[in-house]
Amino acid sequence: MFTSIAGRAVLVTGGTRGIGKGIASVFASNGARVLITGRDSDAARAAAEELPGEVSYVLADVADREDCRRMAAIAQERLGGIDVLCANAGIFPEGRLADLTEEDLDQVFGTNLKGTIFSVQACLPALERSARGRVILTSSITGPITGVPGWTHYGASKAGQLGFMRAAAIELAPSGITVNAVLPGNIITEDLADLGKARMRNMTAAIPLRRLGTVDEIGHAVLFLATEEAAYITGQTIVVDGGQVLPEFLGAVAGAEAAG
Ligand code: NAP
Repeated sequence: MFTSIAGRAVLVTGGTRGIGKGIASVFASNGARVLITGRDSDAARAAAEELPGEVSYVLADVADREDCRRMAAIAQERLGGIDVLCANAGIFPEGRLADLTEEDLDQVFGTNLKGTIFSVQACLPALERSARGRVILTSSITGPITGVPGWTHYGASKAGQLGFMRAAAIELAPSGITVNAVLPGNIITEDLADLGKARMRNMTAAIPLRRLGTVDEIGHAVLFLATEEAAYITGQTIVVDGGQVLPEFLGAVAGAEAAG
């Protein structure tokens, strides 16, 4: 049995939809006090109402440094501090390498990479005051481990998060803050469900466990990294992908099925 995280003050960026909402749900269900962020007020209000337990929201754009400072100040005011920062907000627009504009790069790096760093910087004073400060980034298998044509900028931003994580883990260790990341594979979110049955079937075929992941399954990995039991883990990654990165050659998943 893990030590309870009940009462912990948790900030989840991009917690209004998708994976972030799943992370917020798992923390709130376990008794944490949760503040979620996003830019769309309708989605934020709906998520805060729908999620179980103690969840409130603040509108903030992680690509804006001042917004991140305001978000951290509101967390301090409402929750009395920040014990856990889940830096999850991210975007993944498609764009072929030959066509990517400087604006495309600024948008993806601004949200996924600078947004991660701004969020951590803004929460640092509160995390330092917490006796058990935790930062958990939502990266991806795309970039750190795999590549997908059309997502070069996204992959670079997700791999960049891990470079940030490793140096930050060392810098923040004297303050007792750990910095880790989860790397989701293909997870069912509101957007992904719209892709259509054929595309979903193709995605599923590449996954040894033969299904897409759920947002709660990412939430549980994040929750583990926030527990007392994970206090000695820092600068590390947990891949949550149903084995998607494992097949060594095309057909390996089908081959394993035939052999079984
Ligand atoms: P999603 O369903 O589109 O949700 C993204 C969340 O981030 C929303 O709450 C969105 O709210 C918020 N957001 C986006 N840009 C923001 C900004 N500039 N400032 C503040 N909030 C912002 O996406 P998702 O699939 O859950 O992805 C969440 C994270 O998981 C991302 O970092 C993504 O790279 C990663 N990931 C996802 C998958 C997957 O299969 N779904 C796989 C690997 C990694 P607003 O739009 O209202 O701001």
